[in-house]
Parts: sequence; structure tokens; C-alpha cells
Amino acid sequence: MNDPIVGIDLGTTNSAIGVVDSGFPLLLADEDGKRIMPSAVWIGEDGAVETGRKALRRRASDGGRVITSVKRLMGREPNASDRDYLLGKSAEEVSALILTELKRVAEWRMGKTLRKAVITVPAYFHDGQRQATKRAGELAGWEVVRIINEPTAAALSYGLDQLGERARVAVYDLGGGTFDLTILEMQEGVFQVLSTHGDTQLGGDDLDQTMAETMARVAGLEFQALAPLERARWLMEAERVKCALSLRDEETFSMPFFDGVNSFSTLLTRKQWQEWMQPWIARTIACCQKALNDARLLPQEVNAVVLVGGSTRIPAVRAAVEQCFGRVADVSQHPDEAIALGATIHAGMLSGAMKQMVLLDVTPLSLGIETLGGLMNVLIPRNTTIPCKAGEMFTNAADGQRAMRIRVLQGEREMARDNWELGQVDVPFEPAAKGQARIGVQFRLDENGILEVLTRDVATGVDRVLVIENSAVDVSDDKVGQMVNESVEHAFEDMAERVWTEAKLKAEELLPAIDGALAIGRDWLHEDERLAIDTARDLVRRALEGKDAQRLKSAVQELDRATESLAAQIVEHVMDHATGTSGS
Ligand code: AMP
Repeated sequence: MNDPIVGIDLGTTNSAIGVVDSGFPLLLADEDGKRIMPSAVWIGEDGAVETGRKALRRRASDGGRVITSVKRLMGREPNASDRDYLLGKSAEEVSALILTELKRVAEWRMGKTLRKAVITVPAYFHDGQRQATKRAGELAGWEVVRIINEPTAAALSYGLDQLGERARVAVYDLGGGTFDLTILEMQEGVFQVLSTHGDTQLGGDDLDQTMAETMARVAGLEFQALAPLERARWLMEAERVKCALSLRDEETFSMPFFDGVNSFSTLLTRKQWQEWMQPWIARTIACCQKALNDARLLPQEVNAVVLVGGSTRIPAVRAAVEQCFGRVADVSQHPDEAIALGATIHAGMLSGAMKQMVLLDVTPLSLGIETLGGLMNVLIPRNTTIPCKAGEMFTNAADGQRAMRIRVLQGEREMARDNWELGQVDVPFEPAAKGQARIGVQFRLDENGILEVLTRDVATGVDRVLVIENSAVDVSDDKVGQMVNESVEHAFEDMAERVWTEAKLKAEELLPAIDGALAIGRDWLHEDERLAIDTARDLVRRALEGKDAQRLKSAVQELDRATESLAAQIVEHVMDHATGTSGS
């Protein structure tokens, strides 16, 4: 087994880590059974460190030494107040403390040392921010094998890579502190970002703030004037009521003894709350529209919309997104875990732990058979979803031929010899004139990648089945990459050779046919028609001696044209003859 690779969502508010275990992507829970860890770090005066929930608990007593949302500072030059906030550390070092804790939890869960990681970043992160994230990982002792985009991870967790080539996905990610909308398109098996828009200062925290401020005002208080600890209590209650209103139509906001004496309590309805949220939701929808414009897409050209981030649990948010894209959003995944899960799936694909699952859904390389002239004739193109089947009819190339050899090939090259042979079968048939035998060839690829090649002699109805035991889809990524690269590298010469071979086959078929036709109808032709045919024939013969595919192709076309009238006259003659015979 290869070295396992973990997937990490290093979020603004929360982080999580996962690994593919026995073929399944799993998020790893800490000693308290929690799979989600707040991205919070407490650093004591003496340098002691606490992370996650423990760090958050310090907020009440030592709020000034608790760092949250450090992600916003990654890869940026900190100003004086940022430096104060970071307690003399860099953003990378603080992020590294979170990543160290995740490493500890994962190693404890898995019972072994883990070294390699895939870490997610927002699609809008520039190179400096990505590099800073990578360095944070390294500081924590990880070998960061890949930095991937969060929306890509989200799309993977929803299985949207199965939608196939050119499928477009909108990922609406609304968390605690940030919002982004990214439109992805699947190109050659990987998601490409078509456009992304967002707001790094817009998230669920703003909603808590709005509600706390409004409630304090109703209670006759100036929120900003409250002591930090009091503000924290109002914010916590606001968040609780906010989350409750995602589930219920009304909820009581209550602050017992908010100033040590008085209590405050009021009933809030979802309807009221939605009105307060409206401008804020409208800002996210404006971003969606900008992203669509940038990608030059209409909403209906997007094939799937997925929601990630805790704040997408708000029904009004979901409704607004669905209205904007004109389709029901996919909410089948856990909004807080989707990115970490997708990162884990990606990591599993890289380590090979998920190869089976991933490669089984499409053919990694084209499947076909060799035809006349040593050409590759593709029956199932690369990236076809399996199970699938495809077939074609073939005929004999020579008079009196008794059998046809079917060579089953895999690969992307134009010439059969450059592809891999998976197997071969000889199909016997009754001797027939050239082009008279009819042999059907059908490929069936089952969900396990087993290829069954069925051949049928149409004249007799006799079937033959060749089963390729080795899975046709279980090809290593390296070999697939090599084959695809070679096909790109040799694209021009391969194409030239195909054009040449096809033209040569056509010429070799045409020349004797014309000799035969001239033997019958030479006398019916005008002098200039005869001359044109002879000239064209010479041109083809001379072109056959060279190796210029285009020249041969045009010579063959010219010969085709020159013999049109001869062919027509012969057909007419035959018809006359036939009618004459039947009439007598
Ligand atoms: P994330 O950054 O993705 O972990 O999202 C965290 C944000 O989601 C916080 O602002 C939470 O208050 C918010 N959130 C979580 N659950 C709900 C819910 N049921 N309704 C509204 N907001 C929620």
C-alpha cells in the first residue's frame, strides 16, 4: 500500500482532516468525537498553545490571546494591528499550529505516522497565499503534495466529477466569515475554474452581529459600548437564535441578567429575520451574477449547483440561490464537511487508495480494433462512462478470404501498432467476394472494466465471444498519462499517416477498378475524358511512390471526379441490359 495521503480543509472558521480508509473517504474525529475543529488558536503568555474548542473557551477569560480567522491574513503583509492580533507570530505559524493539531488527531485515530497532505484553499487565493498555505503545512510537518481549490473539493464530494466532460458546476460557499461563488467546468477529467467572485468580509458572523446589535438596541443598549465579554454573550445568543430560525418559524431571543440585573427576552419570527437578512443575501446573489457574466454563461447553462458552508442551511439563502440559477440546489452533502471530504477523495485518488472507485466510472483510454492498413478503429472512445457497449460492421478486404483477425486495442494513437493489444480472435467465414462478408463486432464493457468482444458472421449467425480478463479500465495513471501525452506529441505525424493510409487504401482499390471499367467502356468516352482519366491515374500512381499524404489524397479525389462519367455510363449500360433481359 502506498503512503496514505490525508485531505485537509483549512477553513476560516473551521477545519477538518480525512483519509481514505479501506476505499472509503472518512473524516477523522478527535477524542471528543468531533470531526470539525474550530480554526482557533490560543497562545499563552508563556508560549503554551491550545487549539480548537479549547482555544475558543479561552475567549471568555483571555480573549486577547485567542486568534481566529487567521486565514484572512495568509500571504498578506500584516499591518501593525494584525501583528498585535497575531501575538508576534506570522499567519503561517498560526495556521501551522492548527495543522499540527489536525496531524496529531489523525495520527492518533489512524495509529500511525502520516506525512503527506492535500490542503484546500479558496479559488481566489493568489499564488502568494497558496505558497503561504503550503509553508504552513510544512511547518506542521506535512509534505504538501497538492494545494487544491475548495470548490473543486466540494464538487468532488458531491460526485460531480461523474457528470462528464464540459459539465459546469456552480459552488456557492457561505461560511462564517467569507463567501465565494465559483463556476467550474470539467475539462479532460479535471475541474477548471471558469470564474469566481466573492467577498472575504461576508459570512454568518455578520448575521450574528446584525442580530445582536438590533436586539441590544431594542433592549435600550449600545452594542459597541458593551464590555467584550458581554458582547460575546449577545453574539452567542444571536447565533443560537439564527440557527434555530433556520429550522423553526419563531424563536425567543433571551439574555438573562445582561447587565447583572435586568433580563431581556423577545420573540423573533423567521419572516422578520428574513427581512433583516435580505440585503446581505442580495450581495451574494450579485456575486453569482457577476461570476455567470464573467464565464459568459446563462444560469441554465450550469449543470449543477451545490451549497457548502454552514450558512447555506438558512432556507432564505437556499431559495435565493435556487431562484438565481433556476434549479434546485444539491444539498445532499454535509455543508460543513463537503470540502474536507472532497480533499480526502482527491488525496485518495493521488495515493491510489481510491483508484478503483475513480477509474471504474470512465474508460481511461480508447478501445478499438485494427482495421485495414494497420489503422486504429475506435469503438469506445476514451472517457466514456461505463458500463457501455458499441459496435460496427466490417467486411472482407480480399476475394476468397476465409477469416478475419480481430485485434483488440487500447490507446489513443492513430496507428494500431502504437496502441496496446489486449487480445485477438480469428473469425472464420464462408469464402466470399471482396466486400461481401459481413462481420459485426461489438464491445461490451461492464462496470468492473471487463471487456467482452462479440463477433458475429451475419451470413451464418455464428457468434464468437472473446473476454479480456484483465480489466480494461484498471490502467495506472502514469501509463494513461504517458499514452495521452504520446498521442498529443505525435498528433501531426499520426494524422498524416492515417490520411496517407486511407488514401493509399482508396487508391489501391480504385486503380484496378478503373482498369476494369476502362476495359468495358473505354470506347464510350470522349477523347478528352479518356485523357483526363489517364492523367489522373498517372498522378495517383506517382503520388503512391512518394509519401505525401495530402498529394495522394487530392490525386485520388481527382481520379474519382475524372471517372464519374465513366461510372455513370457503365451503370446505365448495366441497367439497360438488365431491363432488356427482363423484357424479353
Ligand atoms: P462554516 O464557516 O462553513 O463552518 O460556517 C459557519 C457558519 O455557519 C457560522 O456563521 C454558523 O453560525 C453558520 N451556521 C451553522 N449552522 C447554521 C444554521 N442552521 N442556520 C444558520 N447559520 C448556520
